[in-house]
Amino acid sequence: MKKILVLCAVIGIFWGLDSFASAHEAHEHGLAHMNMVVEEKKVEIEITGALDNFLSFEHKPETDAQRQEVRNMAALMRNAGALFVFPAEARCRPEKVSLDSEVLGQSLLAPEGSRQREAHDHGGKSHEDHGDLDAEISFICLNQEKLNSVTVNMFSVFPNLRRMEVQMVTPKGQNAAELSPEASVIRW
Ligand SMILES: [Zn+2]
Repeated sequence: MKKILVLCAVIGIFWGLDSFASAHEAHEHGLAHMNMVVEEKKVEIEITGALDNFLSFEHKPETDAQRQEVRNMAALMRNAGALFVFPAEARCRPEKVSLDSEVLGQSLLAPEGSRQREAHDHGGKSHEDHGDLDAEISFICLNQEKLNSVTVNMFSVFPNLRRMEVQMVTPKGQNAAELSPEASVIRW
């Protein structure tokens, strides 16, 4: 019975996120949304927010410098173990990172070595004034008994980001939190 309740809560969160992302009401500079589900050994995190939080521009990259900035940002996002730090005893390691942005297109966001030929990439909307980034990051933790907090280091890595609104489902239940550079630890 408890399991079913948790599952319902999880579905509710992702539903909420989908409808909200498609409505584009989320776009606010300085703010990102984080959804986190902790279930047994697995932690799934979704971050959505204005590209301005992560880059110095929000349009399709037009110069080599802008393309390089996107690659650098993607590399920082993929270094998920530095962005989200769990208790050492929980023995967590990043499992998967996937990045998506309608404005940027896929090729610049893909991991090094798996990129398509970028010269032929026409992905990305070129006339957007404001774009968003969506990151899905998962971790596997070998010792779930010690899995009870995460330190979110996104503020120091992405200084434009000032605030994060967090919705989470953990073995302790459903909860919400607000993070800032001064308060960036979530406990459960
Ligand atoms: Zn914007």
